[in-house]
Amino acid sequence: MPTRKRAKGSPVRAVPARETETLEEPVAIYPGSFDPITNGHIDIIRRALRVFPRVTVAVAYNPNKDAAMFTPAERVAMIRQAFADVGERVVADSFTGLLVDYAERIGAQVLIRGLRAVSDFEYEFQMTMMNRHLKPKIETVFMMAGEQYFYTSSRLVKEVATFGGDVRNLVPEFVLQRFGERITKKAGEKRV
Ligand code: ADP
Repeated sequence: MPTRKRAKGSPVRAVPARETETLEEPVAIYPGSFDPITNGHIDIIRRALRVFPRVTVAVAYNPNKDAAMFTPAERVAMIRQAFADVGERVVADSFTGLLVDYAERIGAQVLIRGLRAVSDFEYEFQMTMMNRHLKPKIETVFMMAGEQYFYTSSRLVKEVATFGGDVRNLVPEFVLQRFGERITKKAGEKRV
């Protein structure tokens, strides 16, 4: 095979060796709004658990601009309930501010993100590049949920549930109950 001559002064490796060492116990974060957790999220977390020893599912919120249906504490509680069977391998937490700062605080080196159909790509690509610009040592890993969840998003599920549509199979049973309580409470508030 012909060998290509390296130009004088060009680097031997694109990435220095010390940065390609495999992490022994990678700490992974799966960030999102999780308002509420859906079966699409759960599918991604279960896949991530096959690759990483532990996953911190982190609810991102902005105290000044949070138009969420559930409070951060309620969202964290629902995540814990969804993973009650796996013990300490899933940690649920919430944070505000920059994701990469939170990652550094808890010693995480990997960000997990889920990809649905092409629509997620543009945003996820931008976010990944920005996070890499801020903290080059943090890697983002993408996973895809099963095709039955390709169109599941918290926003759509909330919208459909609010108008009485059937979202069974898209969220866990206890989330369906929470929707029921929220919607009945709102209807009561409107009547007065
Ligand atoms: P949503 O878009 O449902 O409000 P989040 O902001 O909580 O979700 O999303 C957290 C991460 O999970 C994002 O990377 C998002 O693309 C991913 N995600 C959400 N739902 C799904 C799904 N059904 N399949 C694959 N990835 C998903």
